Amino acid sequence: MDAKIFENYTKAGKILKDIYAALRIKPGDKIIDIADTVENEIIRKGAMPAFPANISINDIAAHYTPIPNDETVVKDGDFVKVDLGAHIDGYIADGAVTFNSEKSDMITAVTDAVNAAVKIMKPGKKVSDVSEVIESEIESKGFRAVNNLTGHSLDKFTFHGPVTIPNIRNKINYEFKVDDVFAVEPFATDGAGTVKDSERVYIFSYLKDHNTRLPESRQVLNLAKKDFLSLPFCERWIKGITPIKFDLAVKQLVAAGAIQPHAVLREAGHGKVAQAEHTVIVRDKPVVTTA
Ligand code: MN
Ligand code: MN
Repeated sequence: MDAKIFENYTKAGKILKDIYAALRIKPGDKIIDIADTVENEIIRKGAMPAFPANISINDIAAHYTPIPNDETVVKDGDFVKVDLGAHIDGYIADGAVTFNSEKSDMITAVTDAVNAAVKIMKPGKKVSDVSEVIESEIESKGFRAVNNLTGHSLDKFTFHGPVTIPNIRNKINYEFKVDDVFAVEPFATDGAGTVKDSERVYIFSYLKDHNTRLPESRQVLNLAKKDFLSLPFCERWIKGITPIKFDLAVKQLVAAGAIQPHAVLREAGHGKVAQAEHTVIVRDKPVVTTA
């Protein structure tokens, strides 16, 4: 890996690390304020958000980001997952932490799982080895690993690369190579152990060009491609468009296959979900950029 690329990866990771270290979430906080604050911090520290701040509560496992004027407030005992991405010149750090006003074994389970997993992200180790570590850690604390959410390879401007790391045991024999970059992200639940797409969608990303006469659709697609560089975006990031026009535009663009919808993911048994995530560069001594 080129020294400059390594520097971009590690700088982006350090930015997330510092943001998480300073982040305090307490009952009564509005999640839109949390999202705006952390996204602005990413920019202030010299990176760009790689996707909208995902702030997913309780049985929402992932892909919730506040809408403009979102009234959602953190409540006592909520499992609040803050999943953030930062990139410098396309080199991405992807991290997540779960907050709860109460002590939680489920948060300990995912934290221990991610820490144990990144330690073995070495050349020659296999995806199946890492998944085994993750599921065992989660099971040992009495929870279920979510069976259809995975870690993933990272590449320039690509945050869901071709190789995935399931959180449950498997026989995937992909062998990690020096300088592979991966996000490792265990999810644990006290529910059914699986997530489903909900009908709500607040995060989208550019797929392909599309000719449309609707000016708002043209505006959204143009921003998705040129400003957000095909990385995920949300309504909060688009100024000067009414909620009704935004909905119309994204519905039309999704139907045309021009943008991809990233549906809110909900635990199938309405269990609570905890998540932890780090980004790691595979080496004999793994470089955990977000730790
Ligand atoms: Mn993430
Ligand atoms: Mn990720």
